[in-house]
Amino acid sequence: MSSSDIYDIAIIGGGVIGCCIARTLSKYDLKICLLEKEADIAMGTTKGNSGVIHAGYAAERKYLKRDLCIRGNKLYTQAAKELNFPFKRIGSFVIAVEPEQIKKLEEERKKGIEDGVLGLELIFDKKKILEMEPNLTDDVEAVLHAPSAGIVSPYEMTFALAENAAMNGVKFFRNHEVIKINHSEYTFFITTKRKEIKSKNLINCAGVYSANISKMLGLDYFNIEPRKGEYILFDRNELQLQKVLFPIPTKVSKGILVCPTMHGNSFAGPNAQNIFDLEDISTTTAGLKEILEGAQKLVKNLPVRASIRNFAGLRAVSQKEDFIIDNTDIYGFINVGGILSPGLTSCYAIAERVEEFLKLLGVQLKEKENYNPIRPKPEQLSDFTKEELDKKIYENPAWGRIICRCETVPEAEILNAIHAPVGATTVDGIKFRCRPGMGRCQGGFCRPKVMEILARELNRPFQAITKKGEDSNYLIAKTKDIRLKKIKKMEHKEIAEGVEEG
Ligand SMILES: Cc1cc2nc3c(=O)[nH]c(=O)nc-3n(C[C@H](O)[C@H](O)[C@H](O)COP(=O)(O)OP(=O)(O)OC[C@H]3O[C@@H](n4cnc5c(N)ncnc54)[C@H](O)[C@@H]3O)c2cc1C
Repeated sequence: MSSSDIYDIAIIGGGVIGCCIARTLSKYDLKICLLEKEADIAMGTTKGNSGVIHAGYAAERKYLKRDLCIRGNKLYTQAAKELNFPFKRIGSFVIAVEPEQIKKLEEERKKGIEDGVLGLELIFDKKKILEMEPNLTDDVEAVLHAPSAGIVSPYEMTFALAENAAMNGVKFFRNHEVIKINHSEYTFFITTKRKEIKSKNLINCAGVYSANISKMLGLDYFNIEPRKGEYILFDRNELQLQKVLFPIPTKVSKGILVCPTMHGNSFAGPNAQNIFDLEDISTTTAGLKEILEGAQKLVKNLPVRASIRNFAGLRAVSQKEDFIIDNTDIYGFINVGGILSPGLTSCYAIAERVEEFLKLLGVQLKEKENYNPIRPKPEQLSDFTKEELDKKIYENPAWGRIICRCETVPEAEILNAIHAPVGATTVDGIKFRCRPGMGRCQGGFCRPKVMEILARELNRPFQAITKKGEDSNYLIAKTKDIRLKKIKKMEHKEIAEGVEEG
């Protein structure tokens, strides 16, 4: 085995945490790879959450997640500037509708300010509150306003992190589920469903599977029990919110919130149900009813009939109810597990902590001379003036071919999503990068067109294009052509091997 075959760092899990750590470490002169079991990154909890960048006052002081949330929130300004992802500090309201709830808000304000949360204020003036958020229920008594809270598109940020990491040399292996790990002579032998990878250090960011990965190395000191949260998404412009709206929190969650998205939609959710199945992201009638009831307590005129989709995400909850970020007893193995909410907010602070652990392990963190922290903003039709767009279409007619009419996405944006570093290879990969299928018709019209473009650009058969990788085919075979079913398996192998980019 030559030393050039060995990575300095292998990261398991291509969610926001793995990709943020990969990008943070990509500034150093290290050989790094990231292994993801799905056909694309950001397809776990990272795509099923509220996308709120919390101010940081909410968790109890005994928890690490409180400190990392407060720090992580602050790091977003610089990250958004460098990585050009959709992010806005719109501020949040926690809403008291009964006088006795105000005491709790005052406690949170006081502690939050002591701990460095900027700008926290209690507002009692109902007229002012309703001017700041006209959709709010008239029952409001007072709000805790956190101006540093924000909203982000979590998956677009994760794609940006991965692209920038890849630009700086990190290798991404998608469709590489880790199934076994051995450790000997200071080397991790990581067996994936496709090949073995060797690395001197290993960072476990496998989300709800993080305890399973830890157990592969015999470290059985935590468990993950998923806590499911369901959502209802409303069509664009149906509820134009100014703020993220929270109720008074419960013991297990921040409660059912109502919130705008970066693309002009709004949503209500999540609820909180402890479950056992690490893959169960189904939505339920009872859950959706609970969400509607909760949301109607916060806003008047909830646009119930403008709901266009329901979805769910799984919080990775360990018995500590806190982040598990440990330099473990196995030299070079770092667990980053149990990253429940506010993991998205905390990701940059979590990555800083991992950097510190690597220093303690004696890993040489020497900055590369050619490190480039800037990931250019993907070009979008909506950013152009009419004159600019005319010029674009003249130079490249793909800017004039609108593929998704609900979200006005031209073919050129889809081509850029496919050919970006760590680019899209599936229909969901396109949807989450540039939005075809996110609108009112949910892909009913544009999906075949997106599939055609993917097949053409990736040079694959049309029927090999999937929703999200293996076992998610839209098309099994041409009608009556049973022979193609045999070809299916082979094509998936080709797909997997086609996405090993650096
Ligand atoms: C309902 C809900 C609402 C939330 N709201 C917020 C919020 O508003 N703000 C906030 O800050 N946080 C929020 N969070 C928390 C936040 O979403 C998570 O902390 C964050 O997404 C965790 O990211 P991750 O990378 O650890 O996990 P994931 O995104 O799940 O990534 C883990 C990855 O590991 C991969 N993987 C697993 N096993 C293997 C294997 N064997 N081999 C290779 N790859 C593997 C998975 O496929 C997955 O892609 C919310 C969470 C939920 C569920």
